Amino acid sequence: MDLQSQCEAMLAQLSERGIDDPKVLAAMKQVPREAFVLEEFRADAYRDSALPLTHQQTISQPFIVALMAQALELKPSDRTLEIGAGSGYAAAVLGRLCQEVFTVERVGDLAISAAETIRKLGMANVHVRFGDGTKGWPAEAPFDAISVAAGGTRVPNALVDQLAIGGRLVIPLGRAADSQKLVRIRKLAKDRYKEDDLGAVRFVPLLPDTD
Ligand code: SAH
Repeated sequence: MDLQSQCEAMLAQLSERGIDDPKVLAAMKQVPREAFVLEEFRADAYRDSALPLTHQQTISQPFIVALMAQALELKPSDRTLEIGAGSGYAAAVLGRLCQEVFTVERVGDLAISAAETIRKLGMANVHVRFGDGTKGWPAEAPFDAISVAAGGTRVPNALVDQLAIGGRLVIPLGRAADSQKLVRIRKLAKDRYKEDDLGAVRFVPLLPDTD
């Protein structure tokens, strides 16, 4: 099966699993995942699984990228912060759904190659920065949406501060990798939040500044 047919099969599988926002499915169709995976995994680009990147990191599973994108309820005028650019794939998908995406990655090599892939694809509304994402991206705050692509035990304060009123933040929370759940936090007003549980997930850890 060629990559395009594999992509179609992936989209069908996503809608079967509950991704029912047509805008999210369209975005997943527009972003070539094969451009973000390592050369040796190109043929597997549309399998619904996470795949290895360098530095013991992984490109998230398409279903998880779609689930997070859907949970963020993005509007075309929204500005989104992502923590953990990894390959840049999820940022590219988010970039098709909102006005601008700012993504932070703590592994320098990954930040460089994510920026390069996004540049080659001409996605000028996606900005990649090398740094510690637990501090957010203060110069560009506030954000209408924040997507944290690595698991933590709690939501970093800086991210809550940088979320606009009415904004949505999605993060995998939990102590061990096998007891994580994806949580959406909606900022209703200053110091008033609503939390939704989006189900069990498995993410690489959100790491602090130092190695
Ligand atoms: N969204 C990515 C997958 C991310 S995997 C994709 O689509 O490919 C999680 C990423 O978070 C890893 O690349 C890891 O290096 C990064 N990460 C972990 N802790 C971080 C932190 N404190 N700040 C920024 N990035 C972090």
